[in-house]
Amino acid sequence: MPLSKVQTPAGHRDGVLAAMKALDKPSLAIIDGQERASKSGRIFDNYSPRDGQPINAIAACDARDVDLAVKSARAAFEDRRWRGMAPKARKKILHHLADLMGEHAENLALLESLDTGKPIRDARGFDIPAAINTVRYYAEAIDKVYGEVAPTPDTRLSYVIHEPLGVIGAIVPWNFPLHMAMWKVAPALAMGNSVVLKPAELSSMTALYTAQLALEAGLPDGVWNVVTGLGGEAGDALSRHDDVDMIAFTGSGAVGRQLMKASAESNLKRVSLELGGKSPQIVFADCDDLDGAAQNAAWGVFYNQGQVCTAASRLLVEASIKDDFVARVAAVAKTIKVGDPFDPETRFGAMISQRQMNTALDYIEKGQAEGGRLVLGGAQARTESGGYYVEPALLDNITPGNVLAQEEVFGPVLSVLTFEKEDEAWKIANGTVYGLAAGLWTANISRAMRGIAALKAGLVWVNGWDACDITSPFGGVKQSGFGRDRSLHALHKYADLKAVSISY
Ligand code: NAP
Ligand code: MG
Repeated sequence: MPLSKVQTPAGHRDGVLAAMKALDKPSLAIIDGQERASKSGRIFDNYSPRDGQPINAIAACDARDVDLAVKSARAAFEDRRWRGMAPKARKKILHHLADLMGEHAENLALLESLDTGKPIRDARGFDIPAAINTVRYYAEAIDKVYGEVAPTPDTRLSYVIHEPLGVIGAIVPWNFPLHMAMWKVAPALAMGNSVVLKPAELSSMTALYTAQLALEAGLPDGVWNVVTGLGGEAGDALSRHDDVDMIAFTGSGAVGRQLMKASAESNLKRVSLELGGKSPQIVFADCDDLDGAAQNAAWGVFYNQGQVCTAASRLLVEASIKDDFVARVAAVAKTIKVGDPFDPETRFGAMISQRQMNTALDYIEKGQAEGGRLVLGGAQARTESGGYYVEPALLDNITPGNVLAQEEVFGPVLSVLTFEKEDEAWKIANGTVYGLAAGLWTANISRAMRGIAALKAGLVWVNGWDACDITSPFGGVKQSGFGRDRSLHALHKYADLKAVSISY
């Protein structure tokens, strides 16, 4: 399929709608450099959360298609068509891919917004540029990461090489479809591996589109395959395949557990897990920018309709400023209007699915049933559109044992808890099974340092929220998973150490 003509960004909703109609919507898997229907001929329907209307029907791959993709990835790895290329040649191809993604950025943004219901403004301003930046970062790393020489007697040279693992299975969610995919695909390719990517069934299109661009950029056939399909079929087959060396996963804890089991029951492939969170944002009375903190308290959880693994879904406020601070957060939340994702002004769009919307609505009810006070929002919205919209919800009077203080909602729901003393704040903050991100707001540097040490989380942000940058590692502790995306550390996840000694 030739890719659609590159669109120029349209400035208004009707322009976005017209551009969307003109776009080809990718629907076939990519195996061994070719677009493929599934072997069984089966497809599944893909709907837009914006209006509940069908977009297209996508290839439903099963174990047979996964096996073809793995075979193709293995052949590409063994004949060294990619890892055997000079580093600067591989770097050039990944930069070419980033260039093409840049040329096609508007198409990618339109497809991402259509597929997920996220505001076109966010897809244009964040998802696609961040995915491109990820590819560029790892392209640059290809000829800059060195091995090591060990200190040995002068009759022996011992050195350590980072060798690619082989075939990487990447399984990703729907909240930032292309961005999350490239967090795995780009470093895996940079290290010289082959990849089989399984996108979320709710959001396959931008991965398919980008894998085509990669072929156009000169990535050899078979090096990056995309198997579309259902988690229980395509995902399960990938996780149980005996010739896959590693599964790199972002998604729920429930599926993460299944992946570890599948590894144990098959070839003991490695597994890396980026799972969920219940991230706390702690605001002390000595914070000298309460308005800034209030902005971050609201957007830290409401961005992407709350469907962010690092969403700051628990707000811990020092009791003496609680009423004042909650009023400030409510004032910000009031300005967040639920809107049509295709309107370039919209900053808060649709949730991914009816199921996810109902989950959020159920949690809002449960929170109130347990004594939470609904300060704002929480109702279904834009029902006439046929899409899945929920108003940002702010619930006060939540206590540490409540469902809304323990369980991940993955929706626009902010729970407010209070504390009296610093130690109590750290205890509440650490009092869930998760440990992905944590934030604190204080003008007291000693307190900030104590918090950094006390908080059990993979990411800690002081006087700011989500300093999302490719240069620092991303991932969690406890049941938020293990293994890191982003930064040069991510490269080592996709490599083995080979220790070589030459005696002379
Ligand atoms: P999910 O159900 O775990 O799905 C994630 C991916 O796994 C999808 O591609 C899914 O395919 C696939 N999958 C489902 N069942 C599978 C199985 N039995 N074997 C292999 N693969 C399977 O999660 P989600 O609902 O898409 O995303 C929401 C969750 O992801 C939240 O809990 C959130 O916290 C977490 N998340 C974490 C991060 C992070 O970086 N830590 C980032 C984003 C999201 P289908 O789409 O076909 O089901
Ligand atoms: Mg979709």
